[in-house]
Amino acid sequence: MVFNNIDFDTYFSRYPDKDGYFGRYGGVYIDDKLKAAMAEITEAYFSIAQSRRFIAELRRIREEFQGRPTPVTHLERLSNALGGTVQLYAKREDLNHTGAHKLNHCMGEALLAKYMGKKKVIAETGAGQHGVALATAAAYFGLECDIYMGAVDIKKQAPNVARMKILGANVIEVTHGLQTLKEAVDAAFEAYSKEYKDAIYCIGSVMGPHPFPMMVRDFQSVVGFEAREQFTKMTGHLPDAVVACVGGGSNAAGLFSGFLNDPVRIIGVEPLGRGPKLGDHAASLKYGTEGVMHGFNSIMLKDENGDPAPVYSVASGLDYPSSGPEHAFWRDIGRVEYDVVDDEETIDAFYKLSRLEGIIPAIESSHAVAYAMKLVKTMDHGSILINLSGRGDKDMDFVIEKYGIRE
Ligand SMILES: *Cc1c(COP(=O)(O)O)cnc(C)c1O
Repeated sequence: MVFNNIDFDTYFSRYPDKDGYFGRYGGVYIDDKLKAAMAEITEAYFSIAQSRRFIAELRRIREEFQGRPTPVTHLERLSNALGGTVQLYAKREDLNHTGAHKLNHCMGEALLAKYMGKKKVIAETGAGQHGVALATAAAYFGLECDIYMGAVDIKKQAPNVARMKILGANVIEVTHGLQTLKEAVDAAFEAYSKEYKDAIYCIGSVMGPHPFPMMVRDFQSVVGFEAREQFTKMTGHLPDAVVACVGGGSNAAGLFSGFLNDPVRIIGVEPLGRGPKLGDHAASLKYGTEGVMHGFNSIMLKDENGDPAPVYSVASGLDYPSSGPEHAFWRDIGRVEYDVVDDEETIDAFYKLSRLEGIIPAIESSHAVAYAMKLVKTMDHGSILINLSGRGDKDMDFVIEKYGIRE
């Protein structure tokens, strides 16, 4: 399919280009020592990760350990409650081992680390979800695992800290600055620049310097390719629209990869939080401007000094002031639409899906559900496939405390 002069039949072999660009976005904006480390990973990715042996091993792990393929579920009661003319379906990444899509790229990254002869994986984590997924992968492959985490987040996320420790990871407390995600990223990068001979940095979404946006997309694309096959087998046709939430953008990139070359509307949903004022949301693609942060060029939310702005969302996995470079590219060429839902709409969707379908979604994923529920009202027939990126067990206490039990 050709869209806006771009031939999507050959898209994956041409994007990103050899320097890691999706149009004007992406690249490698880091110091020379780390550039050399990234080049080594890129080289290994193209040689090792495309080999038959690697692909076969990853496929076996996905089946035997992760529980893939995850199913597609017809959300019949929710569809009926919204009028019954449009049918909603969910790709169930909440049923992936550890309860979210993040393990898809962590297993890929850790397998690559093993093939490269590395002994350790390093990452930062905010809410702890990426840390838990990576600690799981490290335990599976027998790799050491250093997770950098701000002291404030360590206090807030006790269950995830416990999980990481039980899985054998070293949780390293970061005590400077605001003691949250940004400081953890800085500390993890600093450690990596000293240890890159023995270690590999594992980024938690489709962001960071090349090759990570490409690698994480490719490892997540299993979601979209499975979903396309399952959906067409189930219904005999393609969905009219596919919808996913966008923080950094990995679960969305995974689902979208399966449908880029189809006549299907693709919609990424960003968190509007408390509203459109800077500081009250994390809708970088809607309100941001071009800029470089954390090693890549993309669209980001900036404060008056041009630094990454403070962001907010009820979903801690979505409160990031930028999005992956490929999303910025898809937005510019018009292949993917990006829109927003706020906290209230999200919590409403969280309860609707729980009550009508027996599925408690992650608050992140509830953004996609909320958007699909609004989209139904603009369509007179058809079907929508939602990426249910994770389960909501981690969010239950917070939702009850902040919003109470709802109908
Ligand atoms: C981390 C997380 C997200 C956000 O990350 P993306 O890279 O944007 O996918 C979404 N959903 C869940 C369940 C998560 O844990």
